[in-house]
Parts: sequence; structure tokens; C-alpha cells
Amino acid sequence: MKGPILEINLPEDAVKWSGPIAYLDRDGVLNYGSPNYINSPEELRLIPGAKEAVTKLRELGYKIAITTNQSAIMRGLWEDDTIHEIHAKLQQEIGQIDVIATCPHRNRDKCNCRKPMPGMLNAVSETIRGRSHSSVNWYGQKPLPINQFDLMVGDRDSDMSAGWAVGARLFQVDEKYGIAEVLQRIINNDSGDDFSPV
Ligand SMILES: [Zn+2]
Repeated sequence: MKGPILEINLPEDAVKWSGPIAYLDRDGVLNYGSPNYINSPEELRLIPGAKEAVTKLRELGYKIAITTNQSAIMRGLWEDDTIHEIHAKLQQEIGQIDVIATCPHRNRDKCNCRKPMPGMLNAVSETIRGRSHSSVNWYGQKPLPINQFDLMVGDRDSDMSAGWAVGARLFQVDEKYGIAEVLQRIINNDSGDDFSPV
């Protein structure tokens, strides 16, 4: 299976965006995660403050993207429509998201979209802006972002690595508190967390 799976909610005639993109992990950032995956719309529970945070980011001028690893797809645990049903419920509760990118792969599929690889973020950037980072050097300097305000919010080091690879400002949260934990820092244009991917 190719990937990532992209769910796009942009107008057909949208001009290429030059503003910032907020890349958001899903589980542990917007909704509570589970060691057994979120397997149905009924299992999805927003973390308090997540809707308000996404609304605020939109007001601040960000395009909003979700980038989520969901290897249950390649494990064959779900029907084809399951991910879309879960994301329909998520958007009912949190508002429309500009692009949702889902990596369906397992580690052993060796794709370039499963975080820590930046393939989902690059696919989102291509979709919204028509450009992206073309390569990653984990041992080099953090690359410059396409927009200086680009940011990544996640609960895991793999999220931070993927964001690092596209030069984004990095905001790591506790999975219990999610994005609300760092909203004020984002509003204050904080330069983000120090992070080294290697
Ligand atoms: Zn993948």
C-alpha cells in the first residue's frame, strides 16, 4: 500500500499558500490515545481544550494539518472506511482540518511517511504550498523551515524528529494534556523546544 493517505479539505482553486502550517499529531495531542489504537468513532475522545486550541491556531493564520501514524491499517485490523469514519467524527467535534495525512504502514514496511520520517509533513506541504523539503540529513543542522512560523505539536520524540526534518518549531506535550499545554507558547511566538534527532 502506498502512503500517506491524504484527506484534503482545500478549495479546488486554492492559490498556493505562503503562510505557516501547524502540523499536529493526533493521538495524545487532539484526542486521547490508546495502546490498542482508536478503532472506531465511538472510541474517539477529545482532550479538553483541543478544539479551542485548533480554533485559535486558525485565527492566528495557520493552515491546520494532522499527521498521524496508524499502522492498524496495514495490520489489517480495519475496514477500508474506518480511518475516514474516525476522521469525520474528529472534524465534527474539532472543526474542519485542511489536510489530514495518515501513514498506514508498520515499521517493517520501511516507508518514508511513518514518523520519525517527514514524508507526511512533506506531502502536506506539497498539497498546501506546492513545495516541500526534498531530503533529510539527521546528522546535519536543523534545516530552515519554508515558513518561519511552521510548527509541530506532538507527544513523542518521533513527532519531534519529523518536525525537525522540515525545520518546524517543536512543541512536545504530555499525552494527558495535549495541545492545550503549549497553546500560550504558540501564541507568544515561542521558538519551540530544543531537540536533537540523533
Ligand atoms: Zn508510511
